[in-house]
Amino acid sequence: MRRIKLTTKGLSTVLGVLLIILVVLICLGIYSKQQTEPTALTMVEDNALRTGPNAAYPEIFKVEKGESFKILKREKKWFFVSNDDKKGWIAGWHTDLDIKRDFVQSEQPLKGKTIIIDPGHGGEDQGASSKKGTKEKEITLRTSLMLRDKLKDEGATVVMTRTTDEYVKLGDRKGKADAFISIHADALDGSAPHGLTVYYHKESQKMLADTLHLAIKKKAMLSDRGVRQENYQVIRQTKQPAVLLELGYISNPTDENLMNDEIYRQITTTSIVDGLKNYFTY
Ligand SMILES: [Zn+2]
Repeated sequence: MRRIKLTTKGLSTVLGVLLIILVVLICLGIYSKQQTEPTALTMVEDNALRTGPNAAYPEIFKVEKGESFKILKREKKWFFVSNDDKKGWIAGWHTDLDIKRDFVQSEQPLKGKTIIIDPGHGGEDQGASSKKGTKEKEITLRTSLMLRDKLKDEGATVVMTRTTDEYVKLGDRKGKADAFISIHADALDGSAPHGLTVYYHKESQKMLADTLHLAIKKKAMLSDRGVRQENYQVIRQTKQPAVLLELGYISNPTDENLMNDEIYRQITTTSIVDGLKNYFTY
């Protein structure tokens, strides 16, 4: 009896020691994992902090070689950093962190990408309309067809949800792609509201919305209503980066004239292509 008791005691001691070793090993594991995530960085060349985690975002602070920052957040190869007087995003490859520069496909960043273009409305659903007779479904199709040709010139594969004046259900306006762009135009009872708006639904779509918005703002002549989050079905049902562009207000005479203008359409579609190129380059 006594021997058995001793053995049981011995066994529990051994188990206790093993348990302590296991806990220590787990703690070491967590510790070393935390160590691999850097907490600070130093510039190895002059560059600039930006308002967002890619090079399409505007620069806010010039930074010099040797300047050090605390890392607050990370987004892939970009770091949100701060020191006593500056705060912003910097690409890891300008710093002492071992981060390789993203391969920049500067020639044709859209080559091999699939883009879905969704011209809003169509067929019996004419969308918004104006007193002068401008119909949203026509503006969205004309703009989308021009955008399609420009994206094809850049080497992208373009899928259209419609290419003619036909009715397509909202539930069918989706597919597998690298980006989904739905084109619309607004209208209200009053003629005062005007300007272009970029909508997204999920947080994962915000980067595409921001990048397109910056590019369009640079070239477009319409006033800017910014980037907004909205629960529209066509962007909600798409898992990929998706945005809905309201090109302007048909109910506003200035917007209406611009949207009906071929040259303006050229400017808008070129700026959307610019935005997509930025999005897929950085
Ligand atoms: Zn619409």
